[in-house]
Amino acid sequence: MGFATDAIHVGQEPDPSTGSIVAPIYQTSTYVQPELGKNKGYDYARTAHPNRRALERTVAKLEGGTAAFVFTSGMAAIDSVFRLIRPGDHAILSQAVYGGVVRLTTQFLVQFGMEFSFIDTSCTENVSKALRPSTKLIYVETPTNPTMSVTDIAAVAKIATTKNITVVVDNTFLSPYFQRPLALGAHIVVHSMTKYLNGHSDCTGGAAILTRQEDIDRIYFLQRSTGAGLAPMDCFLVSRGIKTLAVRMKQHEANGMAIAKYLEAHPKVKRVLHPGLASHPQHAIAKKQQTGFGAMLSFELGSLEASRSLLNHVKLCSLAESLGGVETLISHPGTMTHASVPPEMRKQIGITDGLVRLSVGIEDVEDLIADLDFALSKV
Ligand code: PLP
Repeated sequence: MGFATDAIHVGQEPDPSTGSIVAPIYQTSTYVQPELGKNKGYDYARTAHPNRRALERTVAKLEGGTAAFVFTSGMAAIDSVFRLIRPGDHAILSQAVYGGVVRLTTQFLVQFGMEFSFIDTSCTENVSKALRPSTKLIYVETPTNPTMSVTDIAAVAKIATTKNITVVVDNTFLSPYFQRPLALGAHIVVHSMTKYLNGHSDCTGGAAILTRQEDIDRIYFLQRSTGAGLAPMDCFLVSRGIKTLAVRMKQHEANGMAIAKYLEAHPKVKRVLHPGLASHPQHAIAKKQQTGFGAMLSFELGSLEASRSLLNHVKLCSLAESLGGVETLISHPGTMTHASVPPEMRKQIGITDGLVRLSVGIEDVEDLIADLDFALSKV
């Protein structure tokens, strides 16, 4: 079946007991056991529940994985994946990952004796150079948040596979509609489902999509043990959102490209970072490994004052953290999403005071351009 068909039907079969076309929300913590030692597949909602199982099937199918596990947030999913490595192990990460990943690894997981190197993974040679005998995991975000740098997933997977290193890709920015990392050789995909998979900014959620049985056993063990699995109502919301993923992504992409081109031609904008622009340094890799360029972009205005003027004058674009919803969100990574990244690391990555990030929604693009045009006139 095609992607849109799978997104609507896999895991979303009508309820067999009533014929309800939409599966009910199983808002219950426990399940009656007809006799000791017997149940109908569920006993306690922390361990599993029908809405979670349904969503996990959908997400696994869309990413081409063997199994998926869904969590209360993207960070909970990412945390569970980092727990696959052990004290003394080393992990290599894209230097411009989401700020929460920098915080989790450098301020928390280091306490357990794990080591982390942050490098520019858009240059594959850097990955080879950063390898150590203890390297067990390579964590790639592509495109990265917020600098939109693109890493060649297949090239990194090739290096890793010969050395038995696990490759994890955060596919949040493109969704499986535009990029399928497992087909390019990655072993694990993670998502903040808070973003495009849900698409309506009404709950948080995360997913880990897996291919190898040992990872499946371990992540399920962790989900059950830590209790970070996604709740029934939130699973229902993400499942509902996923049904329109294909049509939303097409419109996001059309609007994203139009706005990227508009901004690139604006005299007050110094630089636009969007993988769909020919000016993007990894445009060729993006074209090779993605089936679309998405709707996330960042642009440089030169100073904090300029960023502030723009952000204080937009009306339709909402100044808010997060991304991937139907509504356009605008943010200032340096003081918002990436505030927890140390200043010297922000500088090295290119998260300047003048950098503004846009998550382009699916409104009428003329209205979005008019809003940005007015706000830019105030810069
Ligand atoms: N990965 C990326 C690329 C993100 O942008 C985010 C959050 O913004 C996360 C992971 C973390 O997800 P969550 O906020 O759902 O925990």
